[in-house]
Amino acid sequence: MAEKRDYYEVLGVSKSASKDEIKSAFRKKAKQYHPDLNKDDPNAAEKFKEVQEAYSVLSDDDKRKMYDQYGHAGVSGGPGGGGYSNFGGFGASDFDFGDIFDSFFGGSGFGFGGGSSSSRGSSRARRGSDVLMRMSLDFDEAVFGCNKKINVDVVEECGECDGKGGHGEEKCSTCHGSGTITTEQHTILGSFLSKSTCPDCGGTGKTFKRKCSNCKGTGKVRKNKNLTIAVPAGINTGDRLRVSGKGNPGTNGGENGDLYLEFVVSEHDVYIRQEDDIYVEVPLSLTDALLGCKKEIPTLYGNVKINIAAGTNSGDKQRIRGKGVDNKYHGTKGDMYVVFKVYTPKKLSREQKMLIDKLSKTEMDTPEIREFNQFVRDND
Ligand SMILES: [Zn+2]
Ligand SMILES: [Zn+2]
Repeated sequence: MAEKRDYYEVLGVSKSASKDEIKSAFRKKAKQYHPDLNKDDPNAAEKFKEVQEAYSVLSDDDKRKMYDQYGHAGVSGGPGGGGYSNFGGFGASDFDFGDIFDSFFGGSGFGFGGGSSSSRGSSRARRGSDVLMRMSLDFDEAVFGCNKKINVDVVEECGECDGKGGHGEEKCSTCHGSGTITTEQHTILGSFLSKSTCPDCGGTGKTFKRKCSNCKGTGKVRKNKNLTIAVPAGINTGDRLRVSGKGNPGTNGGENGDLYLEFVVSEHDVYIRQEDDIYVEVPLSLTDALLGCKKEIPTLYGNVKINIAAGTNSGDKQRIRGKGVDNKYHGTKGDMYVVFKVYTPKKLSREQKMLIDKLSKTEMDTPEIREFNQFVRDND
């Protein structure tokens, strides 16, 4: 696997480049490598993709920040291209849910009962951190929507103790139910009284005769669950879906964080998707291009017959309205673009050659050809 290039390097801008500088660098590079415009460089398509990817990250403030901090691992890369694949398993199965980045959002993993330094000395409820997972979709699943099963660890209230953490509730004897204790500290400057959270009851003011063995006193249990995610039609690479409350557990009664699914959509063999528009290349014979014809065109919603005008050239486009992606995620709808490509036969039969010879004796030059020939003559 080739090493991923630095996004700033790809666009040829400095790390401190402004949004406008990034935008104009992208325009320049995109024009340079657009596969339709650059037919000399065999790697143009690859480079064009690289430029697009770099721009999608650097033009987004959040993604750029992540990238600056974590490099390619911090943002979504193309399939197989560095990034998340470092974390293993990507692309190995129908979809992947294993790439959990709790550190991405500053979480401390599926821990119980706090314990981190930030929660010491405070019984304030803290919301759990968010979790990011990556999910692969094939082209059709993304376009039409689908139901995907994912397997996640979900933290729920313990059923044995109803989330209390123990049985036989009584007033905490250490703090007499107040939840805080007062200690006197002697220093060279004198004595101070300081208040802190009671270590025995964690600030709740209550203790239990018997600690719950099921949840080890935390009131929460971790369960491995299969969730079915309804993926809306129109999802594209980089889109995120929030699954409320399925992130890391909160502490001191704080609610769970959210789970974010970030999608990676694979490409289609025939259709090329750009946002909600779908492009399809349709090969034409020389005679069909010259004389025009009727042709069946494959669309996302079945075949459609279209009239192709006489005198069609390679690269000419025809729009089929409303046959793009019906995007429920963004609430938009795209069109389909048929892009023609004329294929000239390499071999002709004796009869064909005769007919073409005859044709070539007639006036076949177009205004463009005449104009070019004139330029050549003037140039001499
Ligand atoms: Zn106490
Ligand atoms: Zn319990």
